[in-house]
Amino acid sequence: MIMKVLREYEFWFITGSQHLYGEEVLKQVEANSKIMVEGLAKDGRLPGKLVFKQLVTRPNEIKSAMEAANFDPNCAGVITWCHTFSPSKMWISGLNLLNKPWLHLHTQFNRNIPTEAIDMDFMNLNQAAHGDREHGFIATRLRKPRKVVVGYWENEGVRHKIGDWMRSAIGVSVSRNLNIVRFGDNMRQVAVTEGDKVEAEIKLGWSINTHAVGDLVEVMKTISEEAIDTKLEDYRSKYDFATDRVGQIRYQAHMQLAMEHILAKENAGAYTNTFEDLHGLEQLPGLASQDLMATGYGYGGEGDWKVSALTHIMKAMAQGLGKGTSFMEDYTYDLTEGNELILGSHMLEICPSIAETKPQVKVQPLGIGGKTDPARLTFDGKSGNAIVASLVDMGGRLRIVVNDIECVQPYQMPKLPVAATMWKPKPCLEVSAEAWILAGGAHHSVLSFDLNAQHLRDWAEMMEIEFVHIHEGTTINELKRDLFFADVAWRLR
Ligand code: MN
Repeated sequence: MIMKVLREYEFWFITGSQHLYGEEVLKQVEANSKIMVEGLAKDGRLPGKLVFKQLVTRPNEIKSAMEAANFDPNCAGVITWCHTFSPSKMWISGLNLLNKPWLHLHTQFNRNIPTEAIDMDFMNLNQAAHGDREHGFIATRLRKPRKVVVGYWENEGVRHKIGDWMRSAIGVSVSRNLNIVRFGDNMRQVAVTEGDKVEAEIKLGWSINTHAVGDLVEVMKTISEEAIDTKLEDYRSKYDFATDRVGQIRYQAHMQLAMEHILAKENAGAYTNTFEDLHGLEQLPGLASQDLMATGYGYGGEGDWKVSALTHIMKAMAQGLGKGTSFMEDYTYDLTEGNELILGSHMLEICPSIAETKPQVKVQPLGIGGKTDPARLTFDGKSGNAIVASLVDMGGRLRIVVNDIECVQPYQMPKLPVAATMWKPKPCLEVSAEAWILAGGAHHSVLSFDLNAQHLRDWAEMMEIEFVHIHEGTTINELKRDLFFADVAWRLR
């Protein structure tokens, strides 16, 4: 398994209070917190494992709880709530240390005001309305990134928000533990696939390292014929072979097993290659990369390690949602007036998780790279709402650009020898493409049917990188203003 299942990620629920109200009240606070956490934890909408950690009432307890969260590899985030009032100077040291994602749940144990029964004891027990404001102030004063979710804890909307944030927080954990293998370098002269690998490791935790293609070729020599035959049968069970050039397909199986071997050895979740650096390989990995992506690996063409890593992180965040996430490229347009569409594809490497039709294996010439005809999967992409996301290096900072899109059924294009997806970007191609270009978005992106812009906005806030959203309401003038002010603000940070 290259991805930890989401239930393995723990989220620690910590309730804040103080000793002013007496021990009886504190017992009640703890009991009520446990009821709430148990109620939330058994809800299928929360992908991670919610656990009640403790009631904290003193600075040293808070500090210890945050230190424990930092050092526990299973802890993917902390959720805090103040049932009563918890003076927040007590929280300064602990919160300063906290380096795990943080959600402040602003809720109340009771839904309604019990008009007949309410007295001062009730008021003192159920005072999140001002306890959580004290809690919120100190986070803002500390400039501490956190998600605030407001509403009654049994409400569906609140549970969805917590669940969505858990996916983003898991994305943070995956990002901070991600190794990326670069088979060879980037495509020559391309700008947007470059970037500061040191900065990426500082900000995002990615360890990005190169491995010689020659070493991959050497590993191929160690793969047994039997293992290759087994992999070939695995392909046959999942895909239709629309060619009798089985030798070409078998070579993809051979490359895939060797790449998998190296990725496992390096504990890597993502990799890149480029058609300009295939020394010793007979084909560009096509089917091999597509099949690897389907199991959760991130992939980036032309040495694009940023999109590769983002593909893996988004796949990990989207586990269980089931509609699909893939490496993508804006390829060509249909500029029919009033029905402008983007045809998204790549030379070969689109993930079959977004296939509407059963993928077919074809063998066709590539046209560039000077190698033998690579086997690849062709299929039509799914329809429905999706996003495309691109991570770019602005020099001194990283920016993620997200566009809401609506995928439509691709045209019938019988001579197109690659997988195809078509979409209408929001608000329309004219505004979307202008906005994307002004924001510096790449031609490479990650397309996901399972995640939305909010998932990535929360992820970007936690990673402390810039987020740009192109959506139904985007106008060019507002976007330009936002980019201008963001540029100034990020220089000051
Ligand atoms: Mn490309």
